[in-house]
Amino acid sequence: MSLPTASHVRQQFLDFFASKGHHIVPSAPIVVKDDPTLLFINSGMAPFKDYFLGNKPAPYKRIADTQKCLRVSGKHNDLEEVGYDTYHHTMFEMLGNWSFGDYFKKDAIAWAWELLTEVYKLEKDRLYVTYFEGDQADGTAADTETQDLWRQYTTDDRILPGNKKDNFWEMGDTGPCGPCTEIHIDLRSEQERAQKPGRELVNADHPQVVEIWNNVFMEFQRLADKSLIKLPEQSVDTGMGFERLMMAVSGVKSNYDTDVFQPLIQFIAKAVGKEYTGSVVSAQLSVVSEDDQGELTTNNQQLTTQQKTDIAIRVIADHIRTIAFTIADGQLPSNVKAGYVIRRILRRAVRYAFSSLGQKQPFLYKLVPVLADQMAGIFPELKAQTAFVQRVIEEEEIAFLKTLETGLRRLDALEETTRQNGGVIDGKTAFELSDTFGFPLDLTALIAREKGLTVDEEGFKKELEQQKNRSRNAQETEQSDWVTVTEHDAPNVFVGYDQDEATARLLRYRK
Ligand code: ATP
Ligand code: MG
Ligand code: MG
Ligand code: MG
Repeated sequence: MSLPTASHVRQQFLDFFASKGHHIVPSAPIVVKDDPTLLFINSGMAPFKDYFLGNKPAPYKRIADTQKCLRVSGKHNDLEEVGYDTYHHTMFEMLGNWSFGDYFKKDAIAWAWELLTEVYKLEKDRLYVTYFEGDQADGTAADTETQDLWRQYTTDDRILPGNKKDNFWEMGDTGPCGPCTEIHIDLRSEQERAQKPGRELVNADHPQVVEIWNNVFMEFQRLADKSLIKLPEQSVDTGMGFERLMMAVSGVKSNYDTDVFQPLIQFIAKAVGKEYTGSVVSAQLSVVSEDDQGELTTNNQQLTTQQKTDIAIRVIADHIRTIAFTIADGQLPSNVKAGYVIRRILRRAVRYAFSSLGQKQPFLYKLVPVLADQMAGIFPELKAQTAFVQRVIEEEEIAFLKTLETGLRRLDALEETTRQNGGVIDGKTAFELSDTFGFPLDLTALIAREKGLTVDEEGFKKELEQQKNRSRNAQETEQSDWVTVTEHDAPNVFVGYDQDEATARLLRYRK
């Protein structure tokens, strides 16, 4: 069976909304340079924030587009799920249609239904929709208007109430806000659907019952005293995950089995000489704990070699898109802020290629032309800079592979004695790995976990503190420290081992 092509399905969306009077605009760059609250565009509406806040007039009353989005930091961070699940990506396209003080709930709902069931021909009884159930504590009423509108198209057992978290959108503590209606699709087999109705699996992290489209109705303004007033002009903001839509229209069970990812996956599998079987690790099997930052911890020891291969191939196919498009949009890997987020994603991909696919040589950069060709029609910026993007990635790979080799050798050497002594890598050793070998703590923890060991992270922090004090006292300049940073603390910490080198290299490229 041949798969529907990504370019055709994307164009159908744009053509449909053009036929409903929408102006089609190109995607904004993913990298945000002028907003201190956001490192990367993380939703279709982000580039239009000023229109909704009334800072600028919208140039058109109706707009539609596909927006490159990243969810790798801050409020929306899906990074840790990527590779294990089959429908969250670090970079994805969000298809969107907007009304700026023009049409409202009635048309948005009618068009969403028409597009999904008549253009894409999705089966009506696989679709579930949600509406805001209201919030007593907050005094916000249920969105029965939306509930009633949906009754024209589907049956009551497919119209589900949803809570504030999923079904009420607010820009911030104050400002525009309003209820949303989400559309979910049940892609399970007939038999599975007969056993358990899809309505019980909506918003339950089931890989085949997934949210595809969110329609936000900006109806109110939240004031500083928390009360709501009706906005003089009401607006619509919608976002549909393109890769999930591709899964639905292709009749497959994973975003990775669509035309969006298959060219990359086939290229990777061939290049590393392994087979991609699409095996999916259920969330229940892979997730063994969730730390207080909400990060998922997976027990790789329970995975078979083939599962590890499949995960690694998915991680790489996903991450190369984020890395390549972010560089093409002007953000180079570095040791601070957005650049550090990208460097970490690149290193995550290198680590999977290294440990699960046996790639000891730079490899990711070879994927760039495949991706550039595939996306040339809609995002020509990558094709235009293929050689530059490849060089940046290859240099990063070379530097990090060197670090990996040395650190891994050291960890292997420690393995047996650590196991005999209770299985905990002490803080001093973890610190030495980072301090001397430039091997970051998160990586030590990850590899330790794969060996069935743990790391004394508190001990690591103590060592780090002591070292900071020592150098503060001696007024020395730190030379080879490494601190695992998040984008929140990145600006304040010492920048890592290869910053000068990297900067020099990248400056060379920029010339
Ligand atoms: P989910 O509950 O699945 O995490 P969400 O509610 O966080 O999705 P929204 O913020 O409502 O997502 O974004 C609109 C749409 O974008 C979603 O309905 C979904 O189709 C898509 N989407 C969201 N996050 C991702 C992601 N990480 N990768 C791919 N598509 C995504
Ligand atoms: Mg989410
Ligand atoms: Mg959701
Ligand atoms: Mg949502």
